[in-house]
Amino acid sequence: MLITKEQIFERAKQSQLWAGNLIAGHQSGSAKLKNYTPIDNSSIGYIADGSAQDVHAAVRIARETFDEGCWSGLSPQERKQVMLRWAQLIEKHSEELAALDCVDAGKPITECLNTDLPATVETFYWYAEAIDKLFGKIAPTGRQEMGLIVHEPIGVVGAVLPWNFPAQMFAWKVAPALAVGNSVIVKPAELTSLSAYRMVELAYEAGVPKGALSLVCGLGEKVGEALGRHPDVDIVSFTGSTEVGRLFLKYSAESNLKEIVLECGGKSPQVVFEDADLDAAVPHIMAAAFWNMSENCSCGSRLIVHENIKKPLLEKLVAAVSTWQVGDPRDASVSIGPMIEQAHFEKVGSFLETTLKEGGKLITGGKIHSDLGSGWYIEPTIFDAVTPEMSLFRHEVFGPILAVTSFKTDDEAVNLANDTHYGLAASFYSQNVHRVMNIARRINAGTVSVNGFSEGNITTPFGGFRQSGFGGKDNGLEAFEQYTQTKVIWFINQ
Ligand code: NAD
Repeated sequence: MLITKEQIFERAKQSQLWAGNLIAGHQSGSAKLKNYTPIDNSSIGYIADGSAQDVHAAVRIARETFDEGCWSGLSPQERKQVMLRWAQLIEKHSEELAALDCVDAGKPITECLNTDLPATVETFYWYAEAIDKLFGKIAPTGRQEMGLIVHEPIGVVGAVLPWNFPAQMFAWKVAPALAVGNSVIVKPAELTSLSAYRMVELAYEAGVPKGALSLVCGLGEKVGEALGRHPDVDIVSFTGSTEVGRLFLKYSAESNLKEIVLECGGKSPQVVFEDADLDAAVPHIMAAAFWNMSENCSCGSRLIVHENIKKPLLEKLVAAVSTWQVGDPRDASVSIGPMIEQAHFEKVGSFLETTLKEGGKLITGGKIHSDLGSGWYIEPTIFDAVTPEMSLFRHEVFGPILAVTSFKTDDEAVNLANDTHYGLAASFYSQNVHRVMNIARRINAGTVSVNGFSEGNITTPFGGFRQSGFGGKDNGLEAFEQYTQTKVIWFINQ
């Protein structure tokens, strides 16, 4: 049955939304965690409080299914048909999934409908279409031998997800991992499990064998750690904070040395040179800085600007900020919804005080919106005079606070941009093609965009350098490398 976004909003009001464990299709466990919406901090229902036993049951079935071959043993063309049906169902249920992410994560409904869900649907179609176009290789040998280089699914994949783009992150991990034939166990963030639950239900409806896809909801310290330490999980693909990413390396080292892929945080620079077209740059700088309430791994949270154009650029940004409405994310005119939860809101809020204490100059914003009821709203904020020693320059805030630092020379700009432990994304603005070529190669980041903010698209690999992550990329054909292993089969002509 198709469910409208108004019906989801109504159910949320009545605390009627639910995300349970789906272990090979079965609801398991009776323990529940209350789920709240950041819109007004009211209860919207429950999610399952999954346990290590639930993870164990999911892994056992995932392994049996993988070995038995009812999914891993299908031809790519057969898996493609099922994946295409799943993509169609997700497309059909887009409005419902968008509304679930809106109430669960506080994301503006317009963004969920126009950006997140279309990208989610595209990801499913893209990997479904790609799976029967992947070839192995034949090694260059003489007639006495033949070496086949083949790519095989790894086995049991744990996908551990963050809360900032619930449906889209699910798609980035699960679509390629499942398409190549693995069995997948998904652990959504405990703050945002609703769309994941619905997408797994739709997978079963599309014909994905139940044993090949399970969902275990619940806390990171219970479900996430149990997956990370499980001796029969072959790989965990993790997206989340650098801090928790570190723990997954430890879990792996202390268990079965499973592969770990990390897609972690960032502190991405936006560098604006003196010759930039400021009017064209402003909408991109704004999107990089404040899109999704800046709860975005590739958020361009450091604006590094040539001193001669800082004044006009800041004037334009202040004017642009005033057009970004803060408020209830169910309202189509709102661009900035609440922070995800109270603890995060307090963490983001603490940067406002610290930056003022450390000498930052408040240019616009800086207010917490207490007029919007009991949700966790913070105005988009810009601080000038931020130096590399200050906390705002160093730490991932994951909230709408932009740090402005000025420079005089190109070398100084590059040094400031690279002065971070992270390396996820960077953008820079210049009309000079020689400068563009030179700087793009010198910036340490997995995605460098020129004269605009971009994370690339589904065709291009996404992932970081340094402490932003390693071990594999999401998106592009490169994502298949995460979820396959390379085998050589060597024939000897006796
Ligand atoms: P988080 O690290 O707190 O949580 C991510 C996942 O890990 C959740 O499912 C959580 O339940 C689980 N987890 C938490 N503690 C755990 C533990 N002790 N053991 C095992 N699992 C545990 O991250 P978050 O707050 O959900 O997401 C925000 C972070 O994600 C930011 O740092 C952001 O930059 C990053 N992120 C990165 C990308 C990327 O592609 N690089 C994309 C989105 C978000």
